Amino acid sequence: MWRACKNLLATNHILWRRHLRNDPLCPCCSELPESIEHTILLCDWVQPVWFGVAGIRINYKEQIRTLDEWLLTVLTDFRQGKEQQSYLGNVIAVTCWFLWKARCHHVFEKAELLPEKIVPKIQRFILEMEDANSLTRSKRNIVEVRIKEDKCQFPEEGWTKLNCDGAIDAKTFDAGIGVVVRNNAGALIGGKGLSL
Ligand SMILES: [Zn+2]
Repeated sequence: MWRACKNLLATNHILWRRHLRNDPLCPCCSELPESIEHTILLCDWVQPVWFGVAGIRINYKEQIRTLDEWLLTVLTDFRQGKEQQSYLGNVIAVTCWFLWKARCHHVFEKAELLPEKIVPKIQRFILEMEDANSLTRSKRNIVEVRIKEDKCQFPEEGWTKLNCDGAIDAKTFDAGIGVVVRNNAGALIGGKGLSL
């Protein structure tokens, strides 16, 4: 997290500026320069991860200048006590780390970017981290944490599979739903997310 805030992660944009790459484009979407803010907050594929993990909707892209400024704004705007604020900070830090790790697996090992698989992993990690810190479940009322079985079964040939999910922020009652549609090979063929 510290390296991310200090712009010390080797994103394509940073490598390009140092003449170590021919282009600065994001390896995940190939559409925009891969700044650290783009990688962690703005690339399309990370949006469902932030929403799934912490109910965070990053819908003010033009206002995000730096990662540390965004982090400060989110934590400052979150007025629910120091302990909950600290918990949210941990959730954000863990999510950043998982997103960067997934990005690197995608770049170096051609791993698919699958929010529906990463979200439960992050949730599980946070639970384990909180258990290690001996925090009780009652203190975690800012995020509805749900663990899903990390098993994915593809439909039979000729069929498509539709997965849907929803989430609600227990404090603001902001809510959203999303659906994704996959073919029998597991390839994403459509999807939609809606704020309610
Ligand atoms: Zn991107």
